[in-house]
Amino acid sequence: MNAPNDTQFVTQHYIDGRWVDGAMGGTIAVVNPATGAHLTDVAAGTAHDVELAVASAARAFRAWRKTTGAERARYLHAIATAVEARRKRLAILQSLNNGKSQQEAHMDVDDVIATFRYYAQLAERPDDATGEEVSIPSTEHRARICREPCGVAALIVPWNFPMVTTAWKLAPALAAGCTVVLKPSEITPLPELELASAIASVSLPTGVFNVVTGTGADVGAPLVAHQGVAKVSFTGSTGVGQTVMKTAADTLKGVSLELGGKSSILVFDDADLELAVELVATGGFFNSGQMCSATSRVLVARELAPALLARLVERAERIVVGDPFAPGVQMGPLVNRAQFERVRGYIEQGIADGARIVTGGGRPAEVPEHGFFIAPTIFADVPPTSALWRDEIFGPVLCVRVFDTEQEAVALANDSEYGLVATIVTADEARGERVARALEAGVVWVNTPQLIYPQTSWGGYKRSSIGRELGPFGLAAFQEIKQVLTRRQAN
Ligand code: NAD
Repeated sequence: MNAPNDTQFVTQHYIDGRWVDGAMGGTIAVVNPATGAHLTDVAAGTAHDVELAVASAARAFRAWRKTTGAERARYLHAIATAVEARRKRLAILQSLNNGKSQQEAHMDVDDVIATFRYYAQLAERPDDATGEEVSIPSTEHRARICREPCGVAALIVPWNFPMVTTAWKLAPALAAGCTVVLKPSEITPLPELELASAIASVSLPTGVFNVVTGTGADVGAPLVAHQGVAKVSFTGSTGVGQTVMKTAADTLKGVSLELGGKSSILVFDDADLELAVELVATGGFFNSGQMCSATSRVLVARELAPALLARLVERAERIVVGDPFAPGVQMGPLVNRAQFERVRGYIEQGIADGARIVTGGGRPAEVPEHGFFIAPTIFADVPPTSALWRDEIFGPVLCVRVFDTEQEAVALANDSEYGLVATIVTADEARGERVARALEAGVVWVNTPQLIYPQTSWGGYKRSSIGRELGPFGLAAFQEIKQVLTRRQAN
């Protein structure tokens, strides 16, 4: 399939039920990372647009909060259906703007659909509306716990999984009865605005859903600081997450933060070699390694290390890198020049720090000249003090180290300021369980790829997260808890 050249893009804000240009009229250029070509310009929002969007969401909240869970569930199902109808187009825009392969782009759209369907089911739970009876040691009183929407929610998302990170916030926020202002990443607004257009097509009440595009400084910061916003749900880098949390403290609003990671895959001596190779490759190179959950630290038992490394190099060199719309392409470019330069900087630093590069490191052959491509890269003997080992690189770069004991493997994995995810590959079920419990990570996969079901949980330990998304936790993030204690009437 070739890149479509007749694509019409949505480029405006969606505020108070209407598509509008920004109050100040500025725009931001959007680029195709596979070719460096200019795709279009989208509205560059300002504090004034934020003001209009928050005011609209606040007005809408008065009625939306009183809707029943069943009514909200109908809207969520309608959104899932509208997204299903645009599946192909959303996947095209995702590949065009973010650079990910068409297969991965379709997986993202399917995740969005599953997330809206799941939260539609949760919205219908009767307990949240009427309150849940709690058993107390009193015959005179009746106690209930009610869950109510917390108010206007600001949803701020990154570029690496734009639609998925949006759905993980938007679906539970709407299910809870919150109204929202979404701020997509300024780097990947196109799939987000198409998603917004699908959402707009289901005719939610005016102001329930608003989108303001623009930079973090011009839109994100005023949104976080706004007195009318009750909750900020943010996914992005740890540094910006810290700024968000500090700013939110001024108005004492709640924050949920999904931040960076530096995660490990632990391959034990009894592991199935082919399974291990597959899980290491996908854990490191999916989405060109631009994953908060990339298992970019590869810890392998000494006995298995030579065989694993040899097979891994072979596997990495077989990955077809190129324009996502070219036939057979499995891995696309990095998202932009800044990200490309950053990853190249880490590769050079790694070599200077004494790590041994065993494959990749540069631009692959036969990729479009102006695209931001880096070949799947593997380092061995990576010093545990090096930036390559400790920092989130956010590119297709794996770092391999050997271990001699289970304790050493766990200690190496836990020796990180992050604690998002981990993968374990072993034939020993008891060891899988023991190591999973010992790891400081919010998600652990044992002998399985990085599958994420909306029914479960998402988020990590340490500097990776504050709070959890998905599952009932994702809904609770947008709810206030109210206790109602009633004295029983004498009959
Ligand atoms: P980023 O922090 O640069 O930007 C994220 C969002 O915040 C963007 O929309 C940006 O415009 C906005 N922003 C920037 N400055 C802001 C400010 N001062 N106030 C409010 N908003 C502001 O992150 P990125 O480069 O877009 O994304 C990559 C990062 O996201 C990586 O660190 C990755 O690990 C993380 N991430 C985490 C998860 C997770 O679930 N834990 C998922 C995806 C990405």
